[in-house]
Amino acid sequence: MSVYHSKVYGIVQGVGFRPFVDRLAAKHQIKGSVANKGSYVEIYAQGSETSCRAFFHGLKAEAPERSVILKIDTHPCEHAPFSAFSIIESEHETGNIFVSPDIATCDKCRAELYDPHDRRYLHPFINCTACGPRLTILDAMPYDRERTSMKEFPMCDACHAEYTDPESRRYDAQPVCCNDCGPEVYIIGNGPGIGHATSRGKDAIYVARKALADGKIVAIKGIGGFHLACDAHNETAVSRLRKKKFRPVKPFAVMLRDMEAVRKNCVLEPGEEELLIGHQKPILLLRKRTGETLAPSVAPGNPKIGVMLPYNPVQMLLFDYPDDLQPDMPDALVMTSGNPSGAPICRSDEDALASLAGFSDLMLSHNRKIRIRADDTVMDYFGGAPYMIRRSRGWAPLPIMLSGEWEKKTGAVLAIGGELKNTFCVGCGPLLYPSPYVGDLSDLRTVQALRETTARLLELLETRPEVIVCDEHPRYNSVTAAREIAKQLGVPLVTIQHHAAHILSCMAENDVPPDGRVIGVSFDGTGYGSDGTIWGGEILDTRYDGFTRLGSITPFPQAGGDKSSVEGWRNAVSMLYLCTGSAERTAELARKLHLCGEDMLKAQLFMLTHHVNAITSTSAGRLFDAVSALLGIRQASTFEGEAAMFLQYAAERGRSKGSAALSTMEPIKAVDGGPLQLRTDRLFERLAEKRLEGEDPDALAFAFHAGLAALIAAGCREAHKQTGLKTVALSGGVFQNTLLLELTIEALEKDGFTVLRHHLIAPNDGGIALGQAAYAMMKLSRGL
Ligand code: ZN
Ligand code: ZN
Ligand code: FE
Repeated sequence: MSVYHSKVYGIVQGVGFRPFVDRLAAKHQIKGSVANKGSYVEIYAQGSETSCRAFFHGLKAEAPERSVILKIDTHPCEHAPFSAFSIIESEHETGNIFVSPDIATCDKCRAELYDPHDRRYLHPFINCTACGPRLTILDAMPYDRERTSMKEFPMCDACHAEYTDPESRRYDAQPVCCNDCGPEVYIIGNGPGIGHATSRGKDAIYVARKALADGKIVAIKGIGGFHLACDAHNETAVSRLRKKKFRPVKPFAVMLRDMEAVRKNCVLEPGEEELLIGHQKPILLLRKRTGETLAPSVAPGNPKIGVMLPYNPVQMLLFDYPDDLQPDMPDALVMTSGNPSGAPICRSDEDALASLAGFSDLMLSHNRKIRIRADDTVMDYFGGAPYMIRRSRGWAPLPIMLSGEWEKKTGAVLAIGGELKNTFCVGCGPLLYPSPYVGDLSDLRTVQALRETTARLLELLETRPEVIVCDEHPRYNSVTAAREIAKQLGVPLVTIQHHAAHILSCMAENDVPPDGRVIGVSFDGTGYGSDGTIWGGEILDTRYDGFTRLGSITPFPQAGGDKSSVEGWRNAVSMLYLCTGSAERTAELARKLHLCGEDMLKAQLFMLTHHVNAITSTSAGRLFDAVSALLGIRQASTFEGEAAMFLQYAAERGRSKGSAALSTMEPIKAVDGGPLQLRTDRLFERLAEKRLEGEDPDALAFAFHAGLAALIAAGCREAHKQTGLKTVALSGGVFQNTLLLELTIEALEKDGFTVLRHHLIAPNDGGIALGQAAYAMMKLSRGL
């Protein structure tokens, strides 16, 4: 007889792990115990050598589907003999913590939801050990009911019996409840068109379904916040929602009833269905099918559409309920975040009443409190795998685990993240925990949400950071908030340049070792450059402890202040001025290209020639805007990235038309003793010439992508000559453009480079907190 002591790390709480261990022990005649220690599960296993081996093998091989085992430490030990195997109550110990993300309703629960003989028939909060809310209802670890927002709902006897029976699939499922003891849905508000504040339970579901079927806008409380929903087939309803949300063009995501509805409206690549029906249920960008029947206003002019399937019981009941409305219920609902633009997603009735009453005709809420917001995760698909755009519900707060030499690092850091699309990141040694999506910090309500959420996640992870890290921008709200948090905690604040942080996040996601060094291609919107100019098309020799700027795209005068980041035509005029060096010639070309009206042209040229309201910029994002305007695709953007997005779509059309790309450009001029320069001015000049010759804009859009990829590869060859490095990391918001990504990877690999790119961390500003955290961890380990 031997006795082994084992610690299992990972997502092993609230996923049915202990009853699984109990069953496995019985199967292999193992005696001992299993206990939930908060940061890990502790097992004592006593049995013959053979049965112990089989038991530990099964522990990994047969683990419950929602568990994620990251590490098992097993050692022989001395222990008084066990006479049975038992599950021991949670005892808390500090250490590395793994909080489970929220999990979409599983198939078994869905089946029970619609089974008239089940005691949870039509229960809007049905869940089990394999599904249900987790992070969003959690107060503290270990994950137990009294430390979640479900503590307000004492279990009835029947639920308690399941909760305590290791044979039940609800054993130890913290949010378990039923029609007798669980939370309740109800209608809130009394505003115009609301007037149903008394409806509860099934009446509330009926009223909400009726409103949706009638083309009304309904605010619906979900897992991580409120959504605004309406019938996605009803053009009047969708365009009304656009007007109310002041959102003219930016695509809305839709929730489709089932895969049948998905296939009816979208074309699927292999692997995409698996992602849609999986237990994380992200919004996935899919190609629209020709002849799809969604309202044109859902994603105007866009070949793609963001699609997700219902992931909680309330959403399922809105699509399917045994009532007289069923035949007329839509199978597609617009589901957009319930927030005033810029503000965080609403999570309480008070928030919703204050902010959403004006946007919606009806509000369906419930009394299970949301502790941490979690917006829907958004992903694209690239190279047969998901490509993250917004990492939140279902993923946060799973850590990125760095390996090898990183495992020797200790200490804790808090990275505040970027100003736009903010997420922050808590680092504990080699574990880096990116937060759920917070939002745009230009809005002070979002800054407040950042303060609250950092405090809550630090508490959950039982971590006190020893250093705070943020961006270098002198006027960012994120930087002000970072200063305050550092002061409050009495710890130092360090900063790292925005585009270097992008590259570091790509290095960390790809588990580059601590002494790693790469050629970073950081192509992005704008960020504060270390020399006080605007950066965003950078080639950076990057290490975890810092970087050297090797070069950039051709600097141009970004004139027109804030407007220059939304009005691409301004940058197109700047680029023409840069190319021609003459105001007269620029004016002549701008007129021929119909870039803007005469007054605006005059004003823009004045700024350029007198160097007023103009700042030197190497922003690749602004270059995309300029090319989009040049080609007559978008003169300005109504949402971030619009001009570049439609330029990409034009290029994809151009590519499939098979038009010839521009002839090879002279790519690089390494200025004597100075930084190398990707000659994007020449690329722009050629495009302008071809455009004036009447070349097809789609073909030119593709030529721009191909030309830029060639420039990047040439830049990396030059960077290799200077540094000897053969690994390139691609990051920054511009690499959300999967066409540019594809062409760049192709060009670099042809040159023999190893290419690192993002997968499950966003290339945009939502990803930079991870890079900041890795930087701070490195600083911390070197004594700041
Ligand atoms: Zn379930
Ligand atoms: Zn119950
Ligand atoms: Fe950025």
